[in-house]
Amino acid sequence: MVRASRVRKSYGRTEVLRGIDFEVRPGEVACLIGPSGSGKSTFLRCINHLETIEGGRLWVDGQLVGYRQKGDKIYELRPRDVAAQRRRIGMVFQRFNLFSHMTVLQNITHAPVLVGGETKAAARAHALQLLERVGLTGRDKAYPGQLSGGQQQRVAIARALAMRPPLMLFDEPTSALDPELVGEVLEVMRDLARDGMTMVVVTHEMGFAKEVGDSVTFMDEGMVIESGAPSDVLDNPQHERTRSFLSKVL
Ligand code: ADP
Ligand code: MG
Repeated sequence: MVRASRVRKSYGRTEVLRGIDFEVRPGEVACLIGPSGSGKSTFLRCINHLETIEGGRLWVDGQLVGYRQKGDKIYELRPRDVAAQRRRIGMVFQRFNLFSHMTVLQNITHAPVLVGGETKAAARAHALQLLERVGLTGRDKAYPGQLSGGQQQRVAIARALAMRPPLMLFDEPTSALDPELVGEVLEVMRDLARDGMTMVVVTHEMGFAKEVGDSVTFMDEGMVIESGAPSDVLDNPQHERTRSFLSKVL
């Protein structure tokens, strides 16, 4: 579902991704861990071409992301084609980024109606199903400001799912939440994983990574230091940098 090969990204003269190799098979949950500034968010943003890349290749569902290849050369896709690719990838951020002037229902149906070509009735019916799935039945008329952080994040997940993406990206989805609200969001993610959703999750929740993850990838300074089964990487890390990081977060 996702394949990255030697992906490089710089901001000005600073190279923040220095040749990332990464793979996620359909139905798998891949967790990305690593210290602040190691390039986790940048890498996630490359997967849906919110960032251009300077080297390497990235594929989602067999399609080259953001570019087309002609002979040896690659060309960036037109904005319209990038948008079409991005529609197939759901993204959930640390800060929920809901539209504050829209109700929960409007937040969820906005994209399907506007860019997905769904009828309002179909989008509404799907939104109500999604609200049930994230445990928010009956909150469709609420505004984001009337909800807790955990509830807002669950709406954000429902909104991302509304476009029926085959791939979901999560960037520290619980980091901005009060501790007592973390569990309800992880529970929704666990449920999604159980249903077979392919997910890439940047997280500091090692319990979640171990229980739900099919793989854990540790990044540091723009590189993948090690990657493997959660039990191997988290319980028996092979690299000093991984050990040092884990000793600080566990
Ligand atoms: P992480 O998510 O692992 O904390 P980031 O991907 O956010 O790391 O950042 C990786 C590095 O890239 C950091 O050094 C950060 O300061 C830098 N960086 C991120 N975004 C930008 C940007 N838009 N412009 C310049 N530097 C950036
Ligand atoms: Mg980040």
